[in-house]
Amino acid sequence: MSWTEDLATLKARTRDVQDLGHTLAVLNWDQEVLMPPKGGPARGRMIGVISRLMHERIADQKVASLLASVESSGKLKPGSDDAAFVRLTRRFHEHAVRVPTELVAEMAENDSRSQQAWVQARPANDFSLVEPLLARSVELRRRVSEYFPEHAHPLDTHIDASDEGMTVAILRGLFRQLRYELVPLVQAVTAKPAPDDSFLNRKFPKAKQLAFSNKVLARLGYDFEAGRLDESAHPFTTTLGAGDKRITTRVHADEHDVLYSLMSTIHEFGHGTYEQNIKEEYDGTPMFAGASSGVHESQSRLWENVVGRSRGFWSYWYPRLQRTFGKALKDVDLEMFLRAINKVETSLIRTEADELTYNLHIIIRFDLECQLMEGSLAVKDLPEAWHARYQSDLGQRAPDDRNGVMQDVHWYGGYWGVFHSYTLGNILSAQFYAAALQQQPELAAQLAVAKTGGLHRWMKKHIYQHGAKYTPAELVQRVTGGPLSIAPYIAYLREKYGELYAL
Ligand code: ZN
Repeated sequence: MSWTEDLATLKARTRDVQDLGHTLAVLNWDQEVLMPPKGGPARGRMIGVISRLMHERIADQKVASLLASVESSGKLKPGSDDAAFVRLTRRFHEHAVRVPTELVAEMAENDSRSQQAWVQARPANDFSLVEPLLARSVELRRRVSEYFPEHAHPLDTHIDASDEGMTVAILRGLFRQLRYELVPLVQAVTAKPAPDDSFLNRKFPKAKQLAFSNKVLARLGYDFEAGRLDESAHPFTTTLGAGDKRITTRVHADEHDVLYSLMSTIHEFGHGTYEQNIKEEYDGTPMFAGASSGVHESQSRLWENVVGRSRGFWSYWYPRLQRTFGKALKDVDLEMFLRAINKVETSLIRTEADELTYNLHIIIRFDLECQLMEGSLAVKDLPEAWHARYQSDLGQRAPDDRNGVMQDVHWYGGYWGVFHSYTLGNILSAQFYAAALQQQPELAAQLAVAKTGGLHRWMKKHIYQHGAKYTPAELVQRVTGGPLSIAPYIAYLREKYGELYAL
């Protein structure tokens, strides 16, 4: 067989794997949005079967020989789509074959038990219910890392799976600088009188919240012919196939706080529009996805925070929001509203944190995660280590573990090495935004009147269309002309909060 025939066979194989992945997405979307509760056990089985088929298709010995044939041909042009295709397929194949199937199965089972235990343990405020399962989860992840001896730190294996090329060593350096800059800024802002945001607790009828979200999505450029907005307990974005990239949002049961649903919607818009704008010819290949978790999160944060909490955006949307909700916002002017939606306060809960303190929550989690994986922190000592770090970094101590170490599902659900990507996304959102404004200065005047089309086209051209073709580091270099840097993010925060809080 010629190498071109082998390449074609390999592409047919990755198309199958992608179709199976999208089938899983259909099952998961339905489970989160529509499925009645009694459908759970059967759905779990169906998801298990498809996951296994997917793993078999990519781990198959046939894939190894096809890859070897194409790689050894010497015919792949560096920088071409085919070269990226082979690099990514090799990466997924290696991940699938290096870790023994029994270990993968044991992790899946432990994760499922541990997540269910967390659902009980959190409201009961009883860490002992999850402790042995969490300890096992750490142990199993440390074993996985042993199959990747090229990684310097045991957490690197798990970080690399979501952010290729990123390491504990790089993140430690970035986070140290970031903390050095953020702590005095948070102190300066919180020393000022806190803005009044009590009006957000008023009632905003749900149907109107959703209708408003849909209007904002349409104007931002979400393609409703290739997606839809639904409700789920935890908002998410998912690809059910080419031409079907859906997002979800959530609304408080008592209908208070219109921003809770709207900002979630705009966040998911960032993820969804990224996926909707990947080149169609990448369908069926591993390039048909975002470049990494961090780059994906840069787009949700860009649209949610950099654009969605800006004066320019609300100068257009606020009068419309006021008209939609009648007397709920009648006595609140644009200035009050802007200060309220950008209120900064140190708090105990990550998901409720503002733009400025959010990263401090992430740095705590990242440091503890490193210690757990190194073995320098035992799971039994984790709750107290958590409290100690919140005391020293945010000046607060949670009254219990429910509001401490048990607040996030991630570790209990088996998601290790992912917290960092939220902060990476924040950093990159500002770096990409600064690059866009530098290359196209006219965008500033457009954004000042909420005309976001130009910025969206820029992101599509430089980031979205390429999918996962470039590694995250290559993409950042191509888009911004330099490596990952916190400088634009710090400059953005200083300017924004300096103005809002008259620093
Ligand atoms: Zn996100």
